[in-house]
Amino acid sequence: MDRSKVIVIPCDSYDEEKVYSALKKGLLELGGLKSIVKPEEKILVKPNLLSAAIPDKAVTTHPSVLKAVYRLLSECGCENVKSGDSPGHGSCEGAMKLLGLNDDTMYGAKLTPMSENVHVDFSDGITCKEFDFCKEVVESDAIINVCKMKTHALERITGAVKNVYGFVCGYRKAAGHVKFPNDTVFARMLADIHRCTHPRLHIMDGIIAMEGNGPGAGTPTPMNVTLISEDPVALDTVYCYLINLDPELVPTNSQGCRMGIGTDKEDEIEIILCDPDESNTGTSGHIINKNELFEKYGNADFDVGREKPKNTFLMKYSGFMTKLARRPVIDKEKCVKCGICVDHCPVPGKAVEFKNGKSSPPVYDYKKCIRCYCCQEMCPQHAIRPVRGPFRRH
Ligand code: SF4
Ligand code: SF4
Repeated sequence: MDRSKVIVIPCDSYDEEKVYSALKKGLLELGGLKSIVKPEEKILVKPNLLSAAIPDKAVTTHPSVLKAVYRLLSECGCENVKSGDSPGHGSCEGAMKLLGLNDDTMYGAKLTPMSENVHVDFSDGITCKEFDFCKEVVESDAIINVCKMKTHALERITGAVKNVYGFVCGYRKAAGHVKFPNDTVFARMLADIHRCTHPRLHIMDGIIAMEGNGPGAGTPTPMNVTLISEDPVALDTVYCYLINLDPELVPTNSQGCRMGIGTDKEDEIEIILCDPDESNTGTSGHIINKNELFEKYGNADFDVGREKPKNTFLMKYSGFMTKLARRPVIDKEKCVKCGICVDHCPVPGKAVEFKNGKSSPPVYDYKKCIRCYCCQEMCPQHAIRPVRGPFRRH
């Protein structure tokens, strides 16, 4: 059986030439980009644009990584390349502008707003049989998923598997959190998005990653790697190896593997370490195991949730156990009472509200809260943090 290849290319800066060389060299290990896309195809390059943020914040895929992808596609003769995301808050254009990306800097790729919705029936769906996707997702022949190495309050990490949630158009994302209200079913829905859309290639920007209170309010931390794979689960599994996190604790890995979009099994993954500085123009990678990889590039102190779930069965299926999950808490000193958390709470009747008027921070109703952490993701002041402890009320 062929093992899933995950290419790891060390890269210690966002210097555009360095990143371009790293990705070009890494792609050779998969036969080159020309073996993955055809010049005549309509291609969508999907970054992680969670919200508008300058590159140094590590909230979004770094523009140097995106520019390298656009440039490589241009060199393959691909002339019909679009790129965009459907951010949870704000516009795609606003997020791309802060990254310095526009039609003049994208090597012929066109910025696309990802704001028009197309309903898609997916009878083969295992957990989800219909989606509201952005039009560009449906219209493209091939999707290149350019994700960011970050932590995530619901799924522990966000990487290649999670990044496809941006295919769901705009505010409709909120409804998905209500319909799939815990980490396991949400991960299964994400796997169905992969089964429906089949992104062809996954590239991870892990040069500066985000640890801690991700995906929007964590701390940038250098990991100095880029990862490439055609298997999103294998890629995220190798990301877990690098941060000393058991891959099986990540629902997007375990459910993605069960639903057939990739593998999280060590003996089914081939890790290829690639040296981008080698002067030869051919392949330069060699196979290494996860321990060798960790020794060279791992970070045992990476701030990510490593605790084991207390009761796997109940965590998956019981609403009661939701109450035992970490609950969002507002830091009153940081809160500017903008109400963005209230706007983004997907629960009917809202689980966070201005109960004491708009001159005081919003207040949670933890009985209603489904722990989707949309409020934490969207708070522009980084004032919300998931906190362990089930029964505290404020
Ligand atoms: S989004 Fe953040 S800053 Fe705005 S009201 Fe909510 S907690 Fe306060
Ligand atoms: S209060 Fe926050 S975590 Fe709770 S349901 Fe609303 S958005 Fe999700």
